[in-house]
Order: sequence, then structure tokens, then C-alpha cells
Amino acid sequence: MENTVLNIAGFNKNSITDGPGFRFVIFAQGCIHNCKGCHNPETHSFGTGTDYTAAQIIAMIKKNPMIKGVTLSGGDPFCQPKQFAALAAELKRQGYEICAFTGYLFEKLIEDKADDKYTLLQNVDILIDGPFIEAEKSMELKFKGSANQRTIDVPKSLEAGKAVISDSPRWI
Ligand code: SF4
Repeated sequence: MENTVLNIAGFNKNSITDGPGFRFVIFAQGCIHNCKGCHNPETHSFGTGTDYTAAQIIAMIKKNPMIKGVTLSGGDPFCQPKQFAALAAELKRQGYEICAFTGYLFEKLIEDKADDKYTLLQNVDILIDGPFIEAEKSMELKFKGSANQRTIDVPKSLEAGKAVISDSPRWI
């Protein structure tokens, strides 16, 4: 894990808008989805961010004891699935709650259990899935941009074999 290298667009080291509580947000560089109206178009190209090892990122997170959760955003972390899976697994092992944003649908991520995307999913607690759809944009939604996106309880969903929407008032 320690030598895993991730290509990163940026960090928000103390966010209160990307999930409940004080969270450390990691913005992946690279996204294939090309949603119209995307707020982070500079994160779409691949390999143009800054390389960090997983160990470097974890050290940054651990500097702030107020941080209890980590949000993987982008870009799309599922476009560097092997690298983010290694990072998320270690962070989960250390007790952090992991949230991930993705332009993929949950159903796509569970299609192939041998795919690194599935491994990453297994190390996520809350998944906010689906592309940003400008026509469904709303400022009223908690932590997400458009009404089509779902806030999914990943452990319950993997057990059920289908997407289960979180019933946690922290997230919904
Ligand atoms: S998935 Fe996210 S980063 Fe990628 S194009 Fe859509 S809104 Fe932008």
C-alpha cells in the first residue's frame, strides 16, 4: 500500500461540505464521464495532477485529529481504482469513514467482482453515484449536485446485491 502512487488534483484538508463532520477530501485527477455543467472540468484529463504516495496522503490526514471521515472525489476516484482501493483499505483499517463520489452507477461497479472498481467499492462506506445532470441540479440536496445521484449505504448494498439508499440522517 505505502508505495501506491495516486495522481491527485488537490485536497481539502478540512471540509464540512463533502459529508458530515470534519472531513479530508481527496480530489482524484482524471474522469471519463464528461458531465455537462461539471464544476471541476480541470480534473478531467489523466496524469496531469500531482503524484502522491498513499503513505504521504495518510500522513497528511493523520496530522489533524479532528478528521474522522475521508471523502474521495474528483475527477472520479473509480478511474484510478487500484490505487484508491489500496488507500481506502488502509484508511478504513485505521477507522476512518470513507465516502466516495463517482460518475459510475452502483450497478456498473458490481458487474465484475474481479475488477479493481469492485475492490474499491468494498472499501467505501457511503457512495454517491451517477453523473451530474444539469437539468436535475438542486441546491437543496445534501452533499450532492443533482437529484439523480443516490446516497448509497455500501455495506448494506453489497449484502443485498442491489443499491440500498442510506437511511442515516447524517447523510440524507
Ligand atoms: S463525474 Fe464528476 S468530475 Fe466527472 S464529469 Fe461528472 S461531475 Fe465532473
